[in-house]
Amino acid sequence: MDLEFTTEELKFRDEVRAWIASVYTDDLKKRMSLSKNGSLDEEHQKAWQKMLADKGWLVTNWPVEHGGPGWNQTQKYIYEMEMALAGAPRMSSMGVRMCAPVVMKFGTDAQKKKFLPPIRNSEVWWCQGYSEPGSGSDLASLAMTAKREGDHYILNGSKTWTTYAQWADWIFCLVRTSKEEKRQQGISFILVDMKSPGITIQAINTLDDTPVGEQEINQVFFDNVKVPVENLVGKEGEGWTCAKYLLTFERGSAYAPSCRNALRKARELAKMETAGGRPLAEDPDFARKLADLEIQIEVLDATERRIFDKLSSGQSVGAMSSLMKTRGSEIGQKVTEVVLEAAGVYANPFVQDTYAHLEGRSNEPLPAPEHLITSAGVYFNNRKTSIYAGSNEIQRNIMAQMILAA
Ligand SMILES: Cc1cc2nc3c(=O)[nH]c(=O)nc-3n(C[C@H](O)[C@H](O)[C@H](O)COP(=O)(O)OP(=O)(O)OC[C@H]3O[C@@H](n4cnc5c(N)ncnc54)[C@H](O)[C@@H]3O)c2cc1C
Repeated sequence: MDLEFTTEELKFRDEVRAWIASVYTDDLKKRMSLSKNGSLDEEHQKAWQKMLADKGWLVTNWPVEHGGPGWNQTQKYIYEMEMALAGAPRMSSMGVRMCAPVVMKFGTDAQKKKFLPPIRNSEVWWCQGYSEPGSGSDLASLAMTAKREGDHYILNGSKTWTTYAQWADWIFCLVRTSKEEKRQQGISFILVDMKSPGITIQAINTLDDTPVGEQEINQVFFDNVKVPVENLVGKEGEGWTCAKYLLTFERGSAYAPSCRNALRKARELAKMETAGGRPLAEDPDFARKLADLEIQIEVLDATERRIFDKLSSGQSVGAMSSLMKTRGSEIGQKVTEVVLEAAGVYANPFVQDTYAHLEGRSNEPLPAPEHLITSAGVYFNNRKTSIYAGSNEIQRNIMAQMILAA
């Protein structure tokens, strides 16, 4: 495997870099610098993704026949890297990277025609209905029922931790269509219009304490929700196969570019803050921590590129996606810890609404320098990364079973 970019690849990188510079405005940069979770509020996030869609650069992982740009793995990697290095908003992946691949592989032609174009054009937003209260790591224990009545299913139960359910037009759900001895066999994969009567959304507030309306996660309740049978993806009772297929996409993205960008910001902070009368960046202990993280990120980057190289030659990466998820999330969390340390006492005054000043909703003086007001929020928000998409303990179980015990 050759880790150097070719001349053609460097040309592509420059093209991507120039385009991002032309659309990533100062206002968006400012908003991102105040974001606790790497995304924007609903209005700006949706507008950003629509712009990517109009450029044809939203569905970079899709095959050309469905509107993908036809990039190879290296080009996809370069694109991700440039987006992260620019500090651009993280893309919401529920439609593009989770639901769509399942519809492409298991959906009928009619489903592909109906659901894929609006995702590609960023006209319809999706959320993920896997977890339930009591069914997270042990997903196969899920209890939400879908009972067939004529040409409809009637859904009852609830889904939880549902990211951006309040923004979503549709939700893809795992539901129990029958009770079988092997629990996985009674599960089906179904697409549900969020406007269906009987659906209610309840916000869940998190450690980063984002204002209501910008919060990320929710519990979604289904009370006799009527869903047409044609919205079932794959065969009834075979949803577990779709569920597992989807998870490899949810976990299998590159982490090194965003870690590298976070570390770059930590380095900038360390130059601005002082410790013992000198810039923190010159403090040997702090400098060692930054260097240690940089080495870890370089190793992660090399590993991810090796994995993407395998993918581009059509090989299965198996439990390697668990490895990327585990290392990537843990290193990302460590960077937020170093930032918290750099912020020192300014990490203490917790700011709930970091956009209030920018949007003229507050005249109160900021309790910390502006470049530090998100440090605590970002730290708290990042605690989620070792839990979502399957906790890191579960990823370690997968690696132990598929790699060590193989
Ligand atoms: C911010 C955030 C966003 C999320 N978004 C979504 C979403 O959009 N849609 C969705 O469906 N879900 C979502 N999730 C849910 C996520 O997938 C679950 O939280 C995750 O799978 C863990 O499940 P749980 O929370 O029920 O914890 P539990 O399964 O109850 O686990 C509790 C603890 O026990 C450990 N544990 C459990 N079983 C084992 C085992 N066998 N071996 C070792 N350790 C074990 C876990 O690692 C964890 O530390 C989100 C979660 C978070 C935090």
